[in-house]
Amino acid sequence: MGKTASISHVRIAKSQCPICLETHSHNVPVLIHKELKDIKEDETWCAPSLCKEHDEMSKDYLGIVIISNDAPKEPNAVIKEEQANRTGKYVMMRRDAANELFDEDLSKLEFIFGDLELLNVLKALTPTKH
Ligand SMILES: [Zn+2]
Repeated sequence: MGKTASISHVRIAKSQCPICLETHSHNVPVLIHKELKDIKEDETWCAPSLCKEHDEMSKDYLGIVIISNDAPKEPNAVIKEEQANRTGKYVMMRRDAANELFDEDLSKLEFIFGDLELLNVLKALTPTKH
């Protein structure tokens, strides 16, 4: 028996879903070390991207990631990922419903941040599931 060839210079990248924070390898590149050296496990992170489930939903649903930040001084302010105080809650809202609720065109966005106040509004709009 020969020695098993190491293929650790080829790895599938890891990404994190910005909506549910799940670690996944959906739609990520395969990494190949250009000098065929080992790629370490912690070197495989690539930019955040949607997991399979949320990628499939994103055509019809807008993700609303609930954060506990204080309300911004300006309406529709942009909150950077590193500034967001995630609560771990998120809501997938049908895009047609989101279009009615928000004045802005959100069709190009995969998700938005919303505060707890918005979550209460959404809860009031959504019929309770049994
Ligand atoms: Zn996800």
